[in-house]
Amino acid sequence: MRERQAAMTGLQRFFLKTEIVFGPGMFDRLEAFRGQRIGIITDAFMVKSGMVDRVRAKLPPCEIKVFGEVVPEPPLQNIAQGARFLADFKPDAILALGGGSAIDAAKAILATLREMEPSRSIVMIAVPTTSGTGSEVTSYAIISEPERGIKHPLRSEEIIPDIALLDPELVMSVPPKVTADTGMDVITHALEAYVAREANDFSDAFAEKALALAFAHLPTAFANGNDVVARGALHNASCMAGIAFSAAGLGLNHGLAHAIGGRLHIPHGKINAMLLPLVIEYNAGTRGEFGPCLPAATRYAEVARRLGLEGPSVRAGVKSLAQAISRLNAQFGIPPTLRALGVDLDEVARYGAAMVQGTLADSCTASNPRKPTPDDVAELIGA
Ligand code: NAD
Repeated sequence: MRERQAAMTGLQRFFLKTEIVFGPGMFDRLEAFRGQRIGIITDAFMVKSGMVDRVRAKLPPCEIKVFGEVVPEPPLQNIAQGARFLADFKPDAILALGGGSAIDAAKAILATLREMEPSRSIVMIAVPTTSGTGSEVTSYAIISEPERGIKHPLRSEEIIPDIALLDPELVMSVPPKVTADTGMDVITHALEAYVAREANDFSDAFAEKALALAFAHLPTAFANGNDVVARGALHNASCMAGIAFSAAGLGLNHGLAHAIGGRLHIPHGKINAMLLPLVIEYNAGTRGEFGPCLPAATRYAEVARRLGLEGPSVRAGVKSLAQAISRLNAQFGIPPTLRALGVDLDEVARYGAAMVQGTLADSCTASNPRKPTPDDVAELIGA
């Protein structure tokens, strides 16, 4: 803690832009858009499953055009396609409906539309249907370049949504595997924000609450997707973790996840979950080492204590946290290694150097409390 206070000598800033609306009648907030033009940005599943129609029925009478072709981990071409589709429609508002992929695509499409016509103001509304990325409140959009095996984290306050509607009813249909992957993404966001270089009392408050809610409710939401209390708590946790990392930044876990996931096409939450116990111990200096703990260890031990995990010393606290995450992964069927996931290890070897380079160049890695060397990264990828 003392180390963190010492590091905090510069100007600190905590910025909140999004109006977060939840609870019964939340869609009434959109009454202000009566008679206007709303461009809905979503994916094919949302259209086919009837989710788009369900949401349309809650909107006031207005002109609507639906771009329903967002693909998972959206590439640049997908953004250009969406912007072309909506440009002539001249929307007053963009409504992103879906998981992180749809919301990130909407953010990038919005930025493109604003570039095309800078004088027009377009409101951004985000309606998340997974509890994972927190994209409804963050300054990030992750856009991929699959041909180069790269995921780019774009970061700008301009793309933070203006309004977020948190409706747990829209998350009920998420299957258990996706609930687990996205739920572990929430835990990764909150933990990375908690130990990030720019963490402060404000981001800590959101990270701590997000962790408490996610640890308490993710197992229930996984086992019983219809449990509205667990779904609601997890949906709030996802949003709070988003507020925390949007302010404090992320870390090595996400740098690795973007480099590995972009190349080997592993779902974002799953690869984050697999890496998390390893990265915790690496950052804390407790990974198979017996020297003194590093500064982040105190922060992890603090989280372990808050979560009621045992740990008579800082080292034991870190270990208990890493083990608790490994236990959750095991409970959800998330394998501990790339080998156990069935990834072609020849491919890992072939792209190893590119993945190390990608991790070190990723802007998330810069927020990590421990500066990794290329050898450290190679070892974590091969673990
Ligand atoms: P996703 O948006 O890719 O969705 C995963 C799958 O779940 C899709 O097939 C989707 O159709 C389906 N799905 C979504 N909602 C559903 C529902 N209610 N019922 C049934 N199925 C549903 O997954 P995600 O994990 O939400 O987002 C991942 C993307 O977000 C990645 O590209 C990741 O890099 C990015 N991301 C962004 C941020 C950010 O701050 N912008 C943070 C973390 C991750």
